[in-house]
Amino acid sequence: MLRQAAEGVLIHQSEFCQSNAVVVHGRAGVLLIDPGVQGYEMDCLADDLRGLGQTVVAGFSTHPHWDHLLWHARLGAAPRYGTARCAATVRDRLSDPGAKARIAAVLIPPDIADQVPLDLLGLIAGLPAGTARIPWDGPQVRIIEHQAHAPGHAALLIEERGVLVAGDMLSDVLIPMLDLNNTADPIEDYLAALRLLEGAAGDVDVLVPGHGSIGGADQVRARIEQDRAYVHALRDAGVPGDPRVGPSATFGKDWLPGVHERQLQGLARRYVP
Ligand SMILES: [Zn+2]
Repeated sequence: MLRQAAEGVLIHQSEFCQSNAVVVHGRAGVLLIDPGVQGYEMDCLADDLRGLGQTVVAGFSTHPHWDHLLWHARLGAAPRYGTARCAATVRDRLSDPGAKARIAAVLIPPDIADQVPLDLLGLIAGLPAGTARIPWDGPQVRIIEHQAHAPGHAALLIEERGVLVAGDMLSDVLIPMLDLNNTADPIEDYLAALRLLEGAAGDVDVLVPGHGSIGGADQVRARIEQDRAYVHALRDAGVPGDPRVGPSATFGKDWLPGVHERQLQGLARRYVP
């Protein structure tokens, strides 16, 4: 079911990890950002779009993780984009013929693995490095690329709608997950990305994270602060007073403390003199 987040901006939420697909109305059709996870959900999205008399004219993946790279045949054959670095990472990872089988076996939770269609996974074109806006016929969508959660991760700012699509940043249910493999200084990269988003936050009325709840203007700064505090705690190997990994963590994400532990261990290895 599609619901409105702002004028001309609709959200379709997946049961998996509260993943948010974002639909932006343009002049000749819609832009679809991170389409969804399970096949029947993307099928439902395709039905909803047909009910609105809309077709998808462009797609965008915020970053090269499997749950943001999916597609469904019924969504059509519009060009799908990502940043140059995102697309290069996807190409590299999928160049191995066994890659999809490994994604299905290792990365996708077993209870939904047979519901996730991988045939159209990752078929995105990289926009030239430094591209400022998504090329499409609709409201301007600014690309805010940063190195934080995954290579070539992009948040998207739809200025005239006051909407920030944050990709896997600024979630109220997931802790910051750092990219420990592709960067020399994941802590500073993450903090720099938060500063970049903070710089763009002034005109944001609606925040749409890749996973979690839609937030209002007050939530943008609150989540930036919460994520910064978490990253500081991680850096200082302190105990984060973060409800997302505490005993009151909601949404059944009992795997988050494990992610936190792995990040602590990964960083300890990395920053040992
Ligand atoms: Zn991700």
